[in-house]
Amino acid sequence: MLSPRDLEKFSRKFGKMLGSGIPLVASLELLAREDPESEISRVLEQVVCKLKEGYTFSSCLAMFPGMFTEVYVAMVKAGEQQGRLDYAMVEIADSCADGTLEPGTGSGEVDETAVSTDDGNIKVIKQLNLIIKEAVSENLSRVVFKPERDHVKLLVAAKKGLQHRETFDNDSYDRIIARVKLMSALDIAERKLPQDGRILVKVESEMIDIRVQLVPTVFGEQIALFFSRPDEKEHPLERLFTDNAQKEMFERLIHSQKSGLIVFAGPHGSGKTTTLNVATAQLNDGSRIIFEIGRIYKSPAGISCIQTQPKIGMTTVNSIRAAVRAEPEVIVVNDLIDEEVALECFKASNDGILVLTQMGARNTSEVFKQLFNLKVPPFQIYGGIAAVMFQLLVRKLCPHCRKEVELTADDLFRLGLSDMKPGKYSESCGCEKCENSGYLGREAFYEIIIPDKNLKEAIIKGDNNEISLALESIQGTRLETRIRNYAEAGNTSPREAARIRSILSLQAPV
Ligand SMILES: [Zn+2]
Repeated sequence: MLSPRDLEKFSRKFGKMLGSGIPLVASLELLAREDPESEISRVLEQVVCKLKEGYTFSSCLAMFPGMFTEVYVAMVKAGEQQGRLDYAMVEIADSCADGTLEPGTGSGEVDETAVSTDDGNIKVIKQLNLIIKEAVSENLSRVVFKPERDHVKLLVAAKKGLQHRETFDNDSYDRIIARVKLMSALDIAERKLPQDGRILVKVESEMIDIRVQLVPTVFGEQIALFFSRPDEKEHPLERLFTDNAQKEMFERLIHSQKSGLIVFAGPHGSGKTTTLNVATAQLNDGSRIIFEIGRIYKSPAGISCIQTQPKIGMTTVNSIRAAVRAEPEVIVVNDLIDEEVALECFKASNDGILVLTQMGARNTSEVFKQLFNLKVPPFQIYGGIAAVMFQLLVRKLCPHCRKEVELTADDLFRLGLSDMKPGKYSESCGCEKCENSGYLGREAFYEIIIPDKNLKEAIIKGDNNEISLALESIQGTRLETRIRNYAEAGNTSPREAARIRSILSLQAPV
């Protein structure tokens, strides 16, 4: 049981601490440490835990009805709502001193049910915790709150695309936005600009990393939550490469390079980010200092992540410079977004650091064209580039519903595949197993280019045509041919082969 004197002392000290500018949580932690053996200290420690879960201070106190009466909690709540909790606490202390306010007559046991459930904030906290918990247990990669004209839809990333799960009214959605911003340390008052943040939570003893993205739309702020498990143990190499020769080439590339720039390139949605992450994980064996810079999707143990924050001057360029000064072995730059960043990456790679980055490109020669477009001087590319790893994904035919078709030379010509022999091919039909798409799974095709003397000479000349020719001689079996063989073997449809080849043959704007 708490004595009226103790309650008064606590209220007054706490109010004064708040008034002198000590943050709420820090004040409570200091007070809890004053007399660690006392019951109030024990309660305060629990209050701090609840605060960190997102409850308001008054709701936290309400969970201890044996110590804080309803009247006491109501006064605290009034102080909170007026934004003057410090004054309110001193007033409360005065009321304790003159006997108008008394402590509860029970023990310091926590009773969460004592918090009224109609409190909108509590409801939102519980709702959001449940959404996160479910997303984790269902292994969802993404959850989106999509504002529409007069309500907000909760969409979750399911196998077949986004799936509508729940609908919120605008009022509770406002609370959800505030709560998400609070959890991810974003600016609650900012509603007109996009914001990016992160939430690290523990769900059933597993660390979950949630990337938060807020985009203002005409109907309100749209929230996307991207889930990842930073320390997930899996065998990504085996999943990435079905072909042993390609896997070995990749491992050799990653482990033999001590410095230089490796570009992971591919068209949109080709899985280059995954490959970049796997390469980083391969290097992350404890023997190297690795910096990762940019929008951080997950922060695995062992990697020093720098989240760029242009608002406070931590641009990508400044982050790279800061990383370079720490003399790391590896720097991972998530995007070559502009000239300055590209130049900084090449400088670092010429300085003996291994730099990994990614770039959207439709073929390997486009990678070099883009580097020239980014105004990286040819001599920097010449000295800095260690390798280009290009990749694309080809959809595999569903084995449950594929059928053989006979294609004539005319058919193939119409598909833009006139170099393929007329004859038997496989086509997609669509069944339940592949959700009527006709395809199940995808096969990745990689091309690793390690510049030879010819390519380097072409680079220093800055001649795109010569680069294309030099690339062809390094490439060996061209990707076009490999995809043709893949279709001829019946693994994919001629239509898919045609789609992929049209991507490969697109000319990059120069
Ligand atoms: Zn099927």
